[in-house]
Amino acid sequence: MNGDSPKHVALTQFPIQNDCLVIGDIPLTRLAQRVGQTPFYAYDRGKITERVKLLRDALPRDIHLHYAMKANPMPAVVQHLAGLVDGLDVASVGEMHVALDTTMPAECISFAGPGKTRRELSCAISAGIVLNMESEKEMLLIAELGEELGVRPNVAIRVNPDFELKAAGMKMGGGPKQFGIDAERIPAVLDQLGKLDLNFMGFHIFSGSQNLKPEAILEAHEKTIQLSLQLVDKAPAPVRILNIGGGFGVPYFPGEQALDIRVVGENLDRLLPTVKQQMPEADVVVELGRYIVAEAGIYVCRILERKSSRGRIFLITDGGLHHHLAASGNFGQVIRKNYPVVIGNKVTGRKREVVSVVGPLCTPLDILADQLEMAQANEDDLVVVMQSGAYGLTASPTDFLNHPKPLEILV
Ligand SMILES: *Cc1c(COP(=O)(O)O)cnc(C)c1O
Repeated sequence: MNGDSPKHVALTQFPIQNDCLVIGDIPLTRLAQRVGQTPFYAYDRGKITERVKLLRDALPRDIHLHYAMKANPMPAVVQHLAGLVDGLDVASVGEMHVALDTTMPAECISFAGPGKTRRELSCAISAGIVLNMESEKEMLLIAELGEELGVRPNVAIRVNPDFELKAAGMKMGGGPKQFGIDAERIPAVLDQLGKLDLNFMGFHIFSGSQNLKPEAILEAHEKTIQLSLQLVDKAPAPVRILNIGGGFGVPYFPGEQALDIRVVGENLDRLLPTVKQQMPEADVVVELGRYIVAEAGIYVCRILERKSSRGRIFLITDGGLHHHLAASGNFGQVIRKNYPVVIGNKVTGRKREVVSVVGPLCTPLDILADQLEMAQANEDDLVVVMQSGAYGLTASPTDFLNHPKPLEILV
């Protein structure tokens, strides 16, 4: 894409001082000196706090907000969020250990994901966290392990709904899926669950991710709640957790608009009374990853060489797809689009040019920006990829080509 507008919504995220991006009150050049190396990721704790407040203000007071850790499992970030949200959702035992190191009580931590092993399940049962069961086989295994361990496992059923989250960047429910138990099987599964020594907590219905269309989210919430109301009668115990998923998206690409979550909140306001009536003991949970952290993070690398090839300028940096796969366009994108990328120490620089920003890897896939208009930059200037607080380092193949790993800081 040529000449992406420099007025991308992401560019209003952080203040600019003397044409330098400011993160956590520290000018980027100074921050880079403090870190002592490039590349690095920096996450702004104030921005994360602000984001949670925005959610609290827009969503009904009764909504329980969970952080889905896989978006950014950096321990300091998770610890910070543990003090702000009502629960943590983990997707591996590694994440569970980070979650348990925080102040979050075990019963407010839930573990989802297919293919959990005996060892992983034993760790989770012993920890006393809630297991979101992804299959009937897993349910039987959990019951067996609970008996062995002498602990009654806390379980919720992950339901694979009979609808999809329309317009979602990633669909994770509806149709045949590796996630959850098909909605039509749930009555039989609940019947079986009632006969096992399991502590039934409720339902987890997650239909998809990265959605920027409020109408689609409203529809998904409506259908999710309808589905839960159909299932509740068959439950062996009162529903205490109704996790309705999340999927709130953030704008990455030119032309994308920020999601209006007030509309989402008003819709939930309308839906909650029925839930309260039918499931008076249920905490209604919204679980979010990227919406909470994506815009609070930046990835910073340094220009090593400014190279011209047949009329095109390449800025070769010390960072690339091995640290930030998503910005390279290789994490679930069908057509490569540029993330918002700026020269962090010359954000609005008057002299502008169209350049490609690439990394040091020996593969043509190692692109951070393809023919993007930016301030004219030179060796030692800092390239910043915005919207990098979620699915950045954690979703990247850091060992590919064996270059040094980036640092992560929370400021
Ligand atoms: C990945 C995931 C999330 C987080 O999705 P985001 O798009 O980061 O908000 C939430 N719940 C489940 C079950 C997930 O697998």
